[in-house]
Amino acid sequence: MSPWLASSWRLVLEGLQSKAAPHAWCIVHPPGVIASELTDRLVRLLLCLNPINHEPCDQCASCQIRETHPDLVLIEPEGAAGMIRVDSIRNSIHIAYTTASMGGQRVVFVRPADCLNQASSNALLKVVEEPPSGTVFIFQTALPGKLLPTLVSRLRMVKVPSPTLEILEKTSQSLGISLDDMMLAETLLVEPMAVKTDPEKFALARDVLTAMARIRNGEDSQMVVKSFAKTDALIASVVMERVCEKLIRAQFDDASNPVTATLAGPYPSVALLYQFKERIAEVKKQAQAGIAVNVGLALGSLFAAWGFICTKVQG
Ligand SMILES: [Zn+2]
Repeated sequence: MSPWLASSWRLVLEGLQSKAAPHAWCIVHPPGVIASELTDRLVRLLLCLNPINHEPCDQCASCQIRETHPDLVLIEPEGAAGMIRVDSIRNSIHIAYTTASMGGQRVVFVRPADCLNQASSNALLKVVEEPPSGTVFIFQTALPGKLLPTLVSRLRMVKVPSPTLEILEKTSQSLGISLDDMMLAETLLVEPMAVKTDPEKFALARDVLTAMARIRNGEDSQMVVKSFAKTDALIASVVMERVCEKLIRAQFDDASNPVTATLAGPYPSVALLYQFKERIAEVKKQAQAGIAVNVGLALGSLFAAWGFICTKVQG
């Protein structure tokens, strides 16, 4: 297994070895990046009839199956909407209550779990809470925030860390996208693959950072905010929060990152940055709750606050 997955795998093994081994896992991974290595191993381990030292044995009848395993139920999005339908959930719950055909455990694998809608999540709640004996659920997602909190509370979460620079380099080469862009997306959105999977979101993130740099350099915040009249308040506030965190951290260690590369110091004091972060959090909270935010006004006030704290360091 890749070295950067080792710590997550250890968490999985600790869980499996504990007295009450989880019967529902959620593997949270950085978007677009190789978590399948870990989930595949977990699936194989759970299905193995004769695991050796908590590793699949590779020898038993179950391990020998290379094609579709009869005791593995895959739940994936279907149709144009790309959602997981409540029908496929009901079907797989039905299967989960029948005996595993190989005599070992049965695994229900939901990927990506963020494609569950309200109805399909609700349909899962009860069976995930008390699954039929021998059935283990695995949810995989890069966007745990999109999962129903009542579902999340029933899952053992295992976070896969962001990939190393080396892995980003390899990925950017194989996909033909810029490494700088991927690192910027990683810094601002914690999603290096957003460059490819969600270019609009990435463009907005970059615009927000650029806007903050312009204001930092003395441009009028109300002029700058004009191009953001119809933007996504949630993404914008997430990005501003990340920028704040990077600037706060930059005052304790001098690690350079795409934010400090764009926004030259000196920076507002840590105390001012924390106050600013609180204001950002308010906007984020409203946006998350789906409260209709007047984006122009909300961002206007945030940009104005940013402009104000920037004047505190220019003197
Ligand atoms: Zn085996």
